[in-house]
Formats: sequence, C-alpha cells, structure tokens
Amino acid sequence: MASIPVIRVGDLLEMKKPHPCGNKTFKVLRTGSDIKVLCTLCGRNLTIERVKIEKMIKKIIPEAKEENKDE
Ligand SMILES: [Zn+2]
Repeated sequence: MASIPVIRVGDLLEMKKPHPCGNKTFKVLRTGSDIKVLCTLCGRNLTIERVKIEKMIKKIIPEAKEENKDE
C-alpha cells in the first residue's frame, strides 16, 4: 500500500534527519535513479539513491508555481 513519492526538479524536500549544518530542507536539482539535492542552507550538493532518499523524506514541498496568471 505504500505509495511512491513523486519527486520533481525544483521541489523542496524536508528530511527526517538534518544535514550536519542543521538544515532539513533540500532542493531537488536532478531526478533519476539517483536524486541530486542542494542543501538550502550551506549550499552543498548531495547525490542520494532514490530508494534511500525516499526513506529520508519527511515531506515534499512542491515547487512554487511561477506561471502567468493573466486570464
Ligand atoms: Zn547543509
């Protein structure tokens, strides 16, 4: 019954465990069998296997939409 989390480039991931710098929020830079994320506080890149990162994620915060709203 476990659903597969949908991770998209630009999303923010809130992790269960913080990075050594104390930050828990990471931005997705690249997806695939490995996920590349950027620590939003210290700016370091991490590449983590998808199966591993899925267990580390507490919450996925979708990218804020920046579409035109001129209708
Ligand atoms: Zn960090």
